[in-house]
Amino acid sequence: MKFDELNLIEPILKALEDKKYINPTPIQEEAIPLILKKNDILGCAQTGTGKTAAFAIPTIQHIVQSEENQRGKPVVKSLIVTPTRELAIQIDDNIRAYSKYTKLRHTVIFGGVKQGAQVDKLRRGVHILVATPGRLLDLIGQGFISLKSVEVFILDEADRMLDMGFIHDIKKLLKLLPTNRQSLFFSATMPKNIVELSRKILRNPKKIEVSPVSSTAETIQQYLYYTNRTTKRDLLLHLLKDPEMDQVLLFARTKRGADRVAKNLKSRNINAGAIHGDKSQNQRQKTLKQFKAKSIRVLVATDIAARGIDIDTLRYVVNYEIPNLPETYVHRIGRAGRAGKEGISISLCEPEENAYIRDIQKLINKKITVVEDNPYPQTDKPMTEKEKKEWNKEKQRRKQEFFANRNKNKNKSNNNRRR
Ligand code: AMP
Repeated sequence: MKFDELNLIEPILKALEDKKYINPTPIQEEAIPLILKKNDILGCAQTGTGKTAAFAIPTIQHIVQSEENQRGKPVVKSLIVTPTRELAIQIDDNIRAYSKYTKLRHTVIFGGVKQGAQVDKLRRGVHILVATPGRLLDLIGQGFISLKSVEVFILDEADRMLDMGFIHDIKKLLKLLPTNRQSLFFSATMPKNIVELSRKILRNPKKIEVSPVSSTAETIQQYLYYTNRTTKRDLLLHLLKDPEMDQVLLFARTKRGADRVAKNLKSRNINAGAIHGDKSQNQRQKTLKQFKAKSIRVLVATDIAARGIDIDTLRYVVNYEIPNLPETYVHRIGRAGRAGKEGISISLCEPEENAYIRDIQKLINKKITVVEDNPYPQTDKPMTEKEKKEWNKEKQRRKQEFFANRNKNKNKSNNNRRR
């Protein structure tokens, strides 16, 4: 099938041609006609399937057609809510590309930056507003946004939204939206709480499932190295000797862990950068840009910060730490092999994480290929419950020692300054 069989208007077809999109992806083929017919949608789709265009294109078309004879300041006719700033920016970038030959106005708002520039754009009027929940409610509270004209409400990455604790924000938001509206609801996974939330939002939705619930993208080859906690670093350096791995997204569990890995790689002359919630929005954008331009080879990210990363050419995802939630694994590896391109995921598993691998394999209903050619194989045993308790105590003690020393040093330098 081609895009011109989907009843799209000329300016959108022209923009898609510029983007070099030839055939719609399966979710686009299914969703675009249903959305154009004003159905509500319950979409189970991972990133990389083309879901952004699947909801953005018919929404743009609806607004362009309904605004044909309208004059005056644009009002918000479509609201797109998404959990992270990166994702919000990316959706807005896509809307810009698909609507470039129309008069549609759109903007994006997110927290972590001053609100002035965002408010200026809102004052001039927009048809499509892309937003993260916190800043959206904040600016609604300040009277800069009204949702009373919203005709199409889109909730993207709903499962991640709940993981990030946005449920109360979503409930508040629902009270502010007109009841007579079209709603499109997308989630990579469909656990029970997501289905319940979708019932509060949608009316007689059409269900679209581009890959079965929680299955991993077919185009991604998944490999697993069993190793020890102490040998992970060396194993990573060994793997990075492969020049094929020229653009690698590496996942760490914590912000401190991400910084540590990036620092270690840099000390070995491997260009690396970290993005996580403690970095400013500008720093994150800058690092991401360098990674896309391949001046940074390894981007170390936490799950939340990596949420919106969309790089067409990304082939390698490394799970430096195995996530304890199997759904997170599905999200992570979905970053590679986007839009049908081949991707490779490599997981480095230490004894304490063996159980997580078992959970992941159960969820994806598939065995991950174990690489036997491994110079640092797993020889340690997982800790017993008793050892785990002792290790946690020891970690606590080290943490307290670290903070006590830091406070001591701070006090010392304050005293010196006073003198
Ligand atoms: P998404 O799943 O929305 O994050 O999209 C994944 C990637 O696929 C993005 O980089 C899009 O630009 C790209 N893409 C979306 N639709 C198509 C299409 N029909 N043909 C080629 N690439 C596409």
